[in-house]
Parts: sequence; C-alpha cells; structure tokens
Amino acid sequence: MIVPKIVFIVFDGLGDRPIKELNNLTPLEAAIKPNLDAFSKMGINGLLHTVKRGIRPGSDTAHLSILGADPEVYYRGRGPFEAAGVGIDLELGDVALRGNVATLDKNGLITDRRAGRIADASEFAKLIDGLTIEGVKIIARAGVGHRMAIVLRGVNLSDEVTDADPHMTNEKILLSKPKNDSAEAKLTASIINIISQKAQELFPTLGNPSANCLLLRGAGKLTEFPNFEKTYGLASCCIAGGALYKGIAKILGFTILNVEGATGKGDTNIDNKIKAVTENLDKYDFFFVHLKGTDSFSEDGKPLLKKEYIERADKAFSPLLPLLKEGRIIISVTGDHTTSSELMAHTTDEVPLLVAGPGVRVDKVETFGERPAQSGGLGHMEGRHLIKYLVDLLGKSPLYGN
Ligand code: ZN
Repeated sequence: MIVPKIVFIVFDGLGDRPIKELNNLTPLEAAIKPNLDAFSKMGINGLLHTVKRGIRPGSDTAHLSILGADPEVYYRGRGPFEAAGVGIDLELGDVALRGNVATLDKNGLITDRRAGRIADASEFAKLIDGLTIEGVKIIARAGVGHRMAIVLRGVNLSDEVTDADPHMTNEKILLSKPKNDSAEAKLTASIINIISQKAQELFPTLGNPSANCLLLRGAGKLTEFPNFEKTYGLASCCIAGGALYKGIAKILGFTILNVEGATGKGDTNIDNKIKAVTENLDKYDFFFVHLKGTDSFSEDGKPLLKKEYIERADKAFSPLLPLLKEGRIIISVTGDHTTSSELMAHTTDEVPLLVAGPGVRVDKVETFGERPAQSGGLGHMEGRHLIKYLVDLLGKSPLYGN
C-alpha cells in the first residue's frame, strides 16, 4: 500500500474581497487555474479562520496556528523567526528583533522606512554584528533588501520592551521602554537604545546618505516550541523564500530546503519550488510550500497582479496532478489570512481551504475560491485543527478515550 505524502501549500494573503475591475470576483475566483480547480473538484473544501473568528492574523501567528503551534500559547514576537530565517542559530533566552535600515532627515525625522529600498543590508549588519553592550553580545545578519535581524545574547534579558520603530514616516525614532519594572526589561530597552544610537553613528560611514539609521521592532524571546516532526511523526521539510517562513519552520523542527530562485517575492521561481517537492518525494512525509506573491501584490493594491501570480502558480502545480491521481500525495491548499487588495491590509475574512487525496470525503465544490468554498464539506475550520485533520487522513491521529 502506498502511504501518501502531504503537500501543504500556503499562499500568503490568499483570500481577498470582491474587486470591481474583476467583475466583483476575488483575484482567486477570477484566475484561470485548471490545476487548483481540479484539486478542488477531487477534494473537500471549506473556509479557514487561521487563528480564530474575529482575529486579524499576522503572518507569524497565522503560520504558527496552521502548523499546529497555538500562537496564544507560544507566540512571543516576530524577532526570533526572522533571526532563525536568516541563519542565526538561536539559543533559549536570546531576545531577537527585526531591523530596517532607513532614512533620517536633518531634523531627525524618518523620511523613508526602507532607505530607498537598498538591495542588501549586509554591510550595515556587519557594523553592528559582534558588538558587546553591557555584557550582552549583539549578533546581526542581513535579510532581504533593507531588512536585518538582530539578536541580543546574554543572561537576564526580557522581551517586555517597546519598539524603537514608530512604524510611520515623519516621526522621530522612539526610545525603547521597559513594559514592566523588572531589571531585565530595563536592561534590554537600554541596550536597544544604544544599538539605535550606534547605528546612527556608524551607518553614515558607508557613504549612502539615505541609509543612516536602524528601526528596531518586534522583540521576542526564544522559548520552547513543539517539534513538528516529533509531535506528528512525519519527516518534514519547508520550501520557502521569505526569512520569516523559513524561520518559523526551522524553530518548529522542519528541514529547510533551499531552492534556487526562491526570492520570497512576486518574482519567485515557483517551478523550482514544486520541483523540490517532486524530487524529494521519497525523502519526506510532509512538505510545507510557502508562496508570498499573493500577499505582496495585495499589500501593494494590485489585485490583477495577484490574479496573474495565482495563474502562474497554477501552471507550476501541473506535476502535482498526476501524483494526486495516483494516490501518492494528499494535497492541501490554503492561505495564512485574507489580504484585501483594496484596503492593502490583512482582514479577518476566512481563507479558502481545499484538501484532496486518498481518504478524503469528496464534496460537490468544483472550483477553488472564497465563495465556492462556502458550500464545501469542511465548513468553517479553525487553523489549529487543520494539521490534525491532515494527519488523521494518514491514520496517525491519537485516539481520545478508548
Ligand atoms: Zn501572511
């Protein structure tokens, strides 16, 4: 008997609201997507509240939830995932932050949060990396573009501190403040403020006047997370471009498969990502494939490009259809949240979900989309239940009672 492998595809920000230029269809509903429609027709469909009804999920909390690690129990801020995603081996107790290289004018106001979208922040990260402040070691690594991850390593640190990043332009850089009276929070806030000051002194030496400061935010302490492989007994890998997604997967114990051309952006090489699935089908039981373009185009207010990205992904999914027909894979496609292309923001709307493969109770839905999914057999599901359902299709779910 063939034991099927699970291919779990997450389109970031997949859901959307009706768009006028698309005849009041969503980008997913309007897309020409024969493969996704075939999966939908061969499977069971539904709608997913990735965290909970009424919660507007961030990408980090939503991914934890749909990968089975309840964010209400485990989430302590985004920093550790970004840091793990850029290759820093985190230790328990580390406090990690995200940083943007940005532009300050002569009045100390932030004029560009991305420093003119510089291509690479490596040289900036090197200026911070290796510093020791108040006995705490600072580790910094560049991410994509203007981004970097910063880790504070030492004893007596806390993530109960406010952001130095005001999250807006035409504002001054804030002083990070402790959220409580503990010595740990006071120490951590003061270190963040010193890094912020050092960046303003050191970054101008690199000669780019529009890259002269660092905006620090998202402090999080690495705590213990459940190991996905051990919890579910599945050899698991992650195929993604963005640091956040690789970082979440790494912290949950996934093997990260690095794929050529996986950029974490709209131009990513989706064919190579799917090739990484088909070529490694014998090596792993669970494949988490992340596609970021849908969210990026929604955040930029470009629903037509979102639709085209879905069409491009659908073409790349062609090698999966015969595997599904042969019963060699269970395929599940969903999103981590809805991103409205009109509001250019995440919303609480559910995301469509499909699951196809051996054992699935096929429903009458014939196309993949927000509204077709309303009549699907899975109904309304919460994100934290999804992995359990997929694992149960393999007959690996523990029995409750006897
Ligand atoms: Zn997201």
